[in-house]
Amino acid sequence: MTAVAVWIALGSNLGDRRAQLEGGVEALRAADEVDVLAVSPWFETRAEGGPSEQPDFLNGVLSARTTLAPEDLLWLLQRIETQFGRERARELPNGPRTLDLDLLLYGERVVAGPELVVPHPRMEQRLFVLEPLCALAPELVLPGCGRTVRARVAELQAELRTEGGRA
Ligand code: AMP
Repeated sequence: MTAVAVWIALGSNLGDRRAQLEGGVEALRAADEVDVLAVSPWFETRAEGGPSEQPDFLNGVLSARTTLAPEDLLWLLQRIETQFGRERARELPNGPRTLDLDLLLYGERVVAGPELVVPHPRMEQRLFVLEPLCALAPELVLPGCGRTVRARVAELQAELRTEGGRA
């Protein structure tokens, strides 16, 4: 199978966030079927949704090429999350987590299965995904809205300022 370009989001807000994010990147680098191409800087962000008063996140995005099928890549991401201490069964929805790995884009493939939805359905609403993505690929066109990452980030930042102004 020829390799496909993929984008993966990383997040952590529990324990040694940076070490877990870097460990996640290293685990992906160590996988034979994954070739990590670029990793964004880490961005500190407020937790959105979930229980109140949870710690801030550190978020980033990486680009890679893989010969794994989408579901097999998701399975690898979940194994790496577990390796870094994630215990899904004990988590609150949107609650704190040691390592969260989301598959954002898998080439131009659309997947709508029970376990996996790609493009990630919420990526275009999330500045904590789009700001790191913008550091790597500002001109990438987002499939859901047809805008570049740079334009969508500017739009969401403007919305935030307007909301801030009204509050
Ligand atoms: P989370 O709590 O964000 O790690 O959510 C993980 C759940 O979302 C798992 O049950 C996955 O099967 C499901 N899921 C659906 N689409 C995706 C995706 N594109 N990337 C990661 N997890 C996904």
